Amino acid sequence: MYNTPTTQISVDGRVFYVKRDDLADPFLAGNKFRKLHALLQTPPQKLDKIISYGGTQSNAMLAIAAMCRKKNWHFAYYTKPLSNTQKNENYGNFFHSKKLGMEHVEIEEPYYKDFVASMRLRMDERTFVVDQGGAVEEARLGLEVLAEEIRGSALDVPSLATPSGTGTTALFLALSLPEYKVYTTPCVGNSEYLKKQMSALHPLPQNLIILEPKKKYHFAKPYKEFLQIQQKLFSSGIEFDLIYAPSMWMALLEQTQEEILYIHSGGVSGNESMLARYRQKGFL
Ligand SMILES: *Cc1c(COP(=O)(O)O)cnc(C)c1O
Repeated sequence: MYNTPTTQISVDGRVFYVKRDDLADPFLAGNKFRKLHALLQTPPQKLDKIISYGGTQSNAMLAIAAMCRKKNWHFAYYTKPLSNTQKNENYGNFFHSKKLGMEHVEIEEPYYKDFVASMRLRMDERTFVVDQGGAVEEARLGLEVLAEEIRGSALDVPSLATPSGTGTTALFLALSLPEYKVYTTPCVGNSEYLKKQMSALHPLPQNLIILEPKKKYHFAKPYKEFLQIQQKLFSSGIEFDLIYAPSMWMALLEQTQEEILYIHSGGVSGNESMLARYRQKGFL
């Protein structure tokens, strides 16, 4: 089995260890690689088709597209209608996913919610639906594999950290590694919202610590301070994504002091389109 390496960086005079899940594959990386573990272990002849839905900047979409390419499964991805600009972009996750063979289907706004809700009704046993944010039970298995790799590395640190969208990754990581403190930070909504999302999956364990960002940020918007910290980390030797990682790093630098193993959650492939937006805003 592929075990991702752990490297070390120095940020503001502090040493951090980084579990390099970003290096798993150019497109199938980070926590989406972990969440798709069960499907990646599925023999190609067992399935014909994967269906998913959501946004067009999604890292999950790109990871599924890369997986389907390897497995020779058809991949249909459903979104709300896109603008022509979005459709014709020749960079970013959507562009790369289509190049990997993804079929894109637009669903008109008024029908989208019902369509998603009834997706499984029209399905056969050779089709698998991956819900937005990644299939939950399957994710748990993949995060147990990550937990075993972390245990096996015998790195002597008391704490781990990884940023949250749905919180699935941080929650299952904390459940799989009760001997570590697991820090996370909400990138979608605030801590209360994140706790609610996580509690729907499993009661929150004691070792899971949610660090609230000092300022309120809107998901996937460009912020000068996000770019600054991302560039600082890049010059220390590791590229991180511009949507999730900046909040986590800012919280760690401001609110913790001990040695930490940061679990790289991937998403670097989305930086091309984020940097284009930073340029449009005049931040670059
Ligand atoms: C999807 C994603 C996350 C959030 O993962 P959750 O399990 O939904 O909390 C964090 N970082 C990156 C780069 C992602 O693509």
